[in-house]
Amino acid sequence: MSLIHDTSTAIQALNQLNIFGLAAMICDTSGVVQLLNSAAAALFQQEPGYLEGQSVHEFEALAPLSKMIKDDTPQITPQKLQLFDHLYCLVRMQKIGRLGFLFIFDDISDLKAREDDQLATLNLVMHDLKAPLTAIKGNADLVQNSGPLNEKQQKYLDRLMRSVHIMDGMVRDILDMAWLDAEEPLVVEPINLTRLVQNAIDVLGSIAEEQQISIEYQLPDVLPDLEGDYRRLERVVVNLLANAIKYTEKGGKVSVQLWQEENQQIIRVSDTGIGIPSEYLPHIFKRFYRVPNQDKRTEGSGLGLAIVHTVVERHHGTIEVESEPGKGSTFTVRLPLRHTFAD
Ligand code: ADP
Repeated sequence: MSLIHDTSTAIQALNQLNIFGLAAMICDTSGVVQLLNSAAAALFQQEPGYLEGQSVHEFEALAPLSKMIKDDTPQITPQKLQLFDHLYCLVRMQKIGRLGFLFIFDDISDLKAREDDQLATLNLVMHDLKAPLTAIKGNADLVQNSGPLNEKQQKYLDRLMRSVHIMDGMVRDILDMAWLDAEEPLVVEPINLTRLVQNAIDVLGSIAEEQQISIEYQLPDVLPDLEGDYRRLERVVVNLLANAIKYTEKGGKVSVQLWQEENQQIIRVSDTGIGIPSEYLPHIFKRFYRVPNQDKRTEGSGLGLAIVHTVVERHHGTIEVESEPGKGSTFTVRLPLRHTFAD
């Protein structure tokens, strides 16, 4: 779309967009609504006269647009936003020189409602799956403790427990992803990362032992508390550690380090495993992505790292990966000690 240089051309442009059924609105450089076409007025279910003159920085129903302006959202990145109570839109913003900003709105309310339904159904199914899984786990524990098992029985029971563990991880991943998609707020509290990382190591210690993989770790005794969501950050460390174990051959080594640098705390999980070829590295944080031809283990949802990435991002942290096929991988998570979690 070309730049619009004066008001009459702006009106013409809005009318043209109207002909194509595209809802559009112009705000001046200070965020005050100057013009909107009738498609936009119909979408917002408002009289144009009522909206013109309102500032997106003050008018709550349009506040997400204020964030787009303040964040200087790149023009090519459409944002999924809720405007007013009734509307989900894909919004594109373009700077139009001295006139301010042009917004174009695509109504995706139906799509959002369908997605919400699917998510709710998936959530219900996963919650329903949790109960029988817990029952299987509990009964397998009872069998384990009910007396000496012969070698064959122990082997079958171990296999059963492994499968239950894998299913449990998949159910948790899907529930976590649904939780994050719903953009529920984080439950922020002061966290002792040493305790959190130690817990994650304890949870996975027996699986590592079974795989004859040793876990080495260096955790500082005294570390200032960090502000974050304990349950979500624990999933970050558990997922990274579970992957390090899963993608490392028997006899290999996994190491975990935690330290503080200025105003951030850093968690590093390294393994001596199969590694990731460099051409696949840019994709591993995408949902459902799994590196092809990694023959060590096939089970997994491909969601673990996507969850890790989202949780770290929601804590305003970063994650980096270095990897060399045949040598191993290192994931480094940096988390700021404190942050405003209001957004
Ligand atoms: P999955 O459930 O498949 O493990 P993840 O999202 O956790 O899904 O990881 C995505 C992909 O990244 C994995 O399928 C695997 O190919 C690769 N990967 C993740 N961690 C490691 C690791 N430590 N070593 C080698 N490959 C890894």
